[in-house]
Amino acid sequence: LTSGLEAAWNKLKGEDVLTKENIVEPMRDIRRALLEADVSLPVVRRFVQAVSEQAIGVGLIRGVRPDQQLVKIVHNELVKLMGGEVSELVFAKSGPTVILLAGLQGVGKTTVSAKLALYLKKQGKSCMLIAGDVYRPAAIDQLVIVGEQVDVPVYTAGTDVKPAEIARQGLEEAKKKKVDVVIMDTAGRLQIDKAMMDELKEVKRALNPTEVLLVVDAMTGQEAAALVTTFNLEIGITGAILTKLDGDSRGGAALSVKEVSGKPIKLVGRGERMEDLEPFYPDRMAGRILGMGDVLSFVEKAQEIMRQEDAEELQKKIMSAKFDFNDFLSQTRAVARMGSMSRVIGMIPGMGKVTPSQIREAEKSSKIMEAMIEAMTPEEREKPELLAESPVRRKRVAQDSGKTEQQVSQLVAQLFQMRVRMKNLMGVMEGGSIPALSN
Ligand code: GDP
Ligand code: MG
Repeated sequence: LTSGLEAAWNKLKGEDVLTKENIVEPMRDIRRALLEADVSLPVVRRFVQAVSEQAIGVGLIRGVRPDQQLVKIVHNELVKLMGGEVSELVFAKSGPTVILLAGLQGVGKTTVSAKLALYLKKQGKSCMLIAGDVYRPAAIDQLVIVGEQVDVPVYTAGTDVKPAEIARQGLEEAKKKKVDVVIMDTAGRLQIDKAMMDELKEVKRALNPTEVLLVVDAMTGQEAAALVTTFNLEIGITGAILTKLDGDSRGGAALSVKEVSGKPIKLVGRGERMEDLEPFYPDRMAGRILGMGDVLSFVEKAQEIMRQEDAEELQKKIMSAKFDFNDFLSQTRAVARMGSMSRVIGMIPGMGKVTPSQIREAEKSSKIMEAMIEAMTPEEREKPELLAESPVRRKRVAQDSGKTEQQVSQLVAQLFQMRVRMKNLMGVMEGGSIPALSN
């Protein structure tokens, strides 16, 4: 526990800011993390440059290492870059909402058509699918099958009708049936080509869609930037759907989408089941791209626990040598909370790697301390001198808490040692003397 306390006290030094020097190492890690997540190099360069400039001079949260805090700043910037908040689908004010899906072959358009219908059905909207991939009969069958799985009607017109004409007919049908949302599945190619773009433009003209969503496979990685740029310039998209996020990809593609098109990712597919479609949460995605989710939750927890006021309050007490058993108790509890967090993340600043047995030990001794402090009278807690001076009082505390007199004496001695140590830490050089316990 001592090293844990030390770490907690260390925060009191509180002179740290992020500097050009102390961000070099962590920035290197962040750059590596982004590249590993398949964010394209120019995007990484721009980003790292911008964040470095912004970070220098930022004051540090007490108890948090500079590199950990930097990760938090980077995370916030990533979230901003991806649009900040969830971007909702837009619905038409009157008539059916029309969603046109576009994208390369195999990215998941047909699957997404049905997933999206199910997603919207759960919101109480009636849906219809239109089969616009006329190049393979199997593609139509596939849409019919997934449509059945989610119990949504599918409009088909075979493979001999042009997609734009199918779109027109399907939309007519949807209006007649007063369907809320029409989703059009289209053909993709292995690569962007003119025929595909021309066909999509025609379909778009026929449908006048509310949403044109580009379906992007998360595995696309660095290519995503060029892909999104082209589709957006050629047909004009309103957003994107990122699929196959259940795979190994860290999802760097997500970063490129908004960067190059200004259009948000609206939904993500994370599995082959029809239920596996969710809103896109920029903060979760940022965590995934950085691959440092544990650091982030630590920084957030630390912010929560080490609220500035508390620290300042404590600082005043230490300066005036008023640090008492109440403070001791709340600090012990704060450190214990940090301790149980470290079980998950193992990164309390200054503690290094914490072993489970060390944590158990720390928790045990903090329980013992708590029991003894709870057995003290309010007066004794505020004036530890009373206990230092009176063996009778110490004996009573021992009996009431079920501990030995020796343990109580140790605790009292520890408090006075801490007063001195904290004074030193604060740089208050006059120090204090440790009173000998009278017997
Ligand atoms: P399309 O060519 O764009 O219509 O792509 P499909 O909808 O036919 O999907 C191609 C393959 O990807 C199929 O085997 C799907 O089951 C699979 N797939 C689609 N979305 C996801 C996803 O989110 N996760 C996983 N693991 N597989 C997916
Ligand atoms: Mg398909």
